[in-house]
Amino acid sequence: KQLVIAIDGYSSCGKSTTAKAVAHLLHYAYVDTGAMYRGVTLHLLEHGIAFDDLPAVEQVLKDLTISFRRHPQTGRNELFLDGANREDDIRQMRISNSVSEVSVIPQVRHALVAQQQRMGRKRGVVMDGRDIGTTVFPDAEVKVFMTADMELRARRRQMELADKDEHVPLADIIDNLRKRDHIDSTRAESPLRRATDAVLLDTTHITISEQVDFVIDQVFS
Ligand code: C5P
Repeated sequence: KQLVIAIDGYSSCGKSTTAKAVAHLLHYAYVDTGAMYRGVTLHLLEHGIAFDDLPAVEQVLKDLTISFRRHPQTGRNELFLDGANREDDIRQMRISNSVSEVSVIPQVRHALVAQQQRMGRKRGVVMDGRDIGTTVFPDAEVKVFMTADMELRARRRQMELADKDEHVPLADIIDNLRKRDHIDSTRAESPLRRATDAVLLDTTHITISEQVDFVIDQVFS
């Protein structure tokens, strides 16, 4: 049976690494919903559209094509906006600093949730985000909610950014993660929270392969 596997939780707890590996092992599709919110944010910033200019934001949601394509060599799923590869750009700190403000906008959530539901309709999908188990697929067969120690999350984020040649002090990253956690978990529309039927996975003291095994165990239990 082809399932929906929902992986929610805070930023930089290892959600996407785990989700990608699980999708690979099961031959499922993988959808990084955070990338979609980042994509909308990048587009608004580049076009100088104020986040509170609702008519303009709604027009963007109608016109902008958001898609994922698999890189033929790395196998990595990359984000495309209107057919252009923007995977590297959406990971920049300037996007992390604004994305939570964009993701509180109800119109943005409605449009992206609808697209995510279409992407997962065929099942056989691992989706990672904040509200997959609560709002996007409340009937997902497997739900995992990931957490980890703040300092560890920040160090992971710092290393990812350094890999792309962006060097950010740890304190700035912690500040960004705290702000995003706060905005994401207090917004009115589908706030970040553990679905009552999601299993909790704290990744502070475990390896990536243990995280993957944990999710796979949920699938076959
Ligand atoms: O997962 P990532 O850190 O890339 O997500 C970036 C931001 O996108 C989150 O901080 C949150 O504001 C937003 N997001 C969301 N709902 C999701 C996924 C991400 O609001 N399902």
